[in-house]
Amino acid sequence: MVKEFACPCGSQQTYSNCCGLVHADIKAAKCPEQLMRARYCAYAKGNISFVLLSQKLAHSAPDEAEQSRAFAAQSEFISLRILNAPRAKQNSGQVEFMALIKQGQQLIQLHELSNFKRDQGVWYYSGGDAKFNELN
Ligand SMILES: [Zn+2]
Repeated sequence: MVKEFACPCGSQQTYSNCCGLVHADIKAAKCPEQLMRARYCAYAKGNISFVLLSQKLAHSAPDEAEQSRAFAAQSEFISLRILNAPRAKQNSGQVEFMALIKQGQQLIQLHELSNFKRDQGVWYYSGGDAKFNELN
């Protein structure tokens, strides 16, 4: 596979066969892990409208769009590692992941336990417990 076409979420699939499907239609995420990968990938690609859509059930700040856009613009999304993605219950699920992000020269490790809820058959991010560690 040509590296340029690999999905940023690290799945080893092409973007169009992976998170691209979810970005085109959020209903394509069949489980919390797929939505989580697609959120990471949306940040990596600067697709803020997908980020906002995917968290419509979460409490968000009035300037959420601006904050998300600034975070995406300042950050280089280096890698994503799913640590734990237990099989979801009917309408709720959790995913624990570690993401490596670079802001300027600063390498940051984001370790988060994310919560997901299913509303009318569609998975959404509903909030998370995030820890940011500066690595250098
Ligand atoms: Zn992907």
